[in-house]
Amino acid sequence: MKILRKSVVLKLWLFMVALVLIIIYFTGVLQTAKLRQLYYNQQLELLTSEAKHISTIKDINEQSMNANLLSTLAEAFKGNIMIIDRQGYIIHCIGMGMSMKNVADEKISVVGHHDLPWKQSDLQSIMQGKTISYQGAYHFLNSDVLTVAVPLNNEGQVTGSVMLSSPLAPIEERIGALQRITIYAGMIGIALATVLSLLLSRTISRPLLKMHRAARSMARGDYSRRVEVKSQDEIGLLANSLNILATELQEKITTLERLDRTRREFVANVSHELRTPLSIIQGYTEALMDGLAESEAERQKYLEDIHEEILRLRRLVAEILDLRKIEAGQIEMKMQEISLAYLAGQVFEQFQTLAEDKQITASLDIAPGSYTLKADPDRIKQVLINLIDNALRVTPPGGQIKVTLTELKDAVQVSVADTGPGILPEEQPLIWERFYKVDKSRARTGGGTGLGLAIAKNIIETHGGTVDVSSKPGQGSTFYFIIPK
Ligand code: ADP
Repeated sequence: MKILRKSVVLKLWLFMVALVLIIIYFTGVLQTAKLRQLYYNQQLELLTSEAKHISTIKDINEQSMNANLLSTLAEAFKGNIMIIDRQGYIIHCIGMGMSMKNVADEKISVVGHHDLPWKQSDLQSIMQGKTISYQGAYHFLNSDVLTVAVPLNNEGQVTGSVMLSSPLAPIEERIGALQRITIYAGMIGIALATVLSLLLSRTISRPLLKMHRAARSMARGDYSRRVEVKSQDEIGLLANSLNILATELQEKITTLERLDRTRREFVANVSHELRTPLSIIQGYTEALMDGLAESEAERQKYLEDIHEEILRLRRLVAEILDLRKIEAGQIEMKMQEISLAYLAGQVFEQFQTLAEDKQITASLDIAPGSYTLKADPDRIKQVLINLIDNALRVTPPGGQIKVTLTELKDAVQVSVADTGPGILPEEQPLIWERFYKVDKSRARTGGGTGLGLAIAKNIIETHGGTVDVSSKPGQGSTFYFIIPK
């Protein structure tokens, strides 16, 4: 029973076998009953007409009747002929192993004889001119028989009866043969059910077991397993869903793991970034407290350094919060129609003096075209500031910075090119990451936070645009972003 509960195919097999057996059984029973009835009716008709035939033989109920004729007749239909008189006494009895000579002298009555089934009422019916029949055991003839009794008429008078008996064995034999065929059919049915079950086990059980194994390995954290099912049926659908589930779970878990890693990295980075300015501030403050500054000018210098570090901290904190909010989608972009040309002009102006101080030639080149698009002006400005600020920072005196606006098909491109040191190809994908700084030592003084490009990338991508850089070390870099109109 345990194995039955465990296998769908076995269950199906049992159901099928049960079905076959039930169908075969009922067909067999009904068929046998119907055929038996048919055979009997046929046999009865045959016997009746035979008996009627015999009853017309002249002097049939005479004791002197030629027994040879009767015995020939009895042999012909392989039965027994019995002639009785009005009182029920047997005059002749021949066939089926009976050959009673001078039976009439013995005065054997068919009614009340312990080996014969006839009753007084039967005899009365016959004598009233009726034909009666009997089917069943007939000890007198040591056999199961079908018997017909027809009246013997002599000039309108019933003078006796012809009783014809035919053994039932041949009929039963034929029915038995038929039942054997039905049993063979049942066996073939069971064999077919078994073959079918085996086929079903291929199409149902095996894929189900495969899915079971896949689900198990998923539970263990292995999402690489896929169920290979070619069928399009419900099982195929299930397998497909399972595969999709595995793929999606795998993706989700990878994303979750990545998010978790970045969050941990972020926390580690922030702590690290905070530590540097804090220890500088601590150092200078302790120096001041210990009276290490000798002159007022030195004291002033310390204070300025402390102040600078505080500003740096503030900027860092502000940028971290900014980035987090943008990444979390908490910052709502205030989208409005803006002219990118105008915006670029504004930011460019801002940096003019700084560029002059550093002896850098800065130029703004706006190609003819339309630069109006929907965007958040403050955020786009922030991107431009970050890019130009970086460019100014890395470009040595005598270098050049070129800001270019170009109209593309359905988009606008802004590029900021410098003649700085450029970026190594392997560094290029990394600079967009938070806290990534090419020159680690630069972090200490006048350095950025390593967040500028990460913020810029986030803002542009929120606008549905892209950012990228092309750079050759030693020949400067060109940062550009594209925003769709
Ligand atoms: P930061 O605020 O420190 O500049 P960013 O995210 O803006 O941080 O830049 C990340 C890194 O990319 C920095 O280490 C910087 O040196 C490098 N970088 C940015 N712009 C340029 C550029 N125009 N040329 C060379 N390196 C650059």
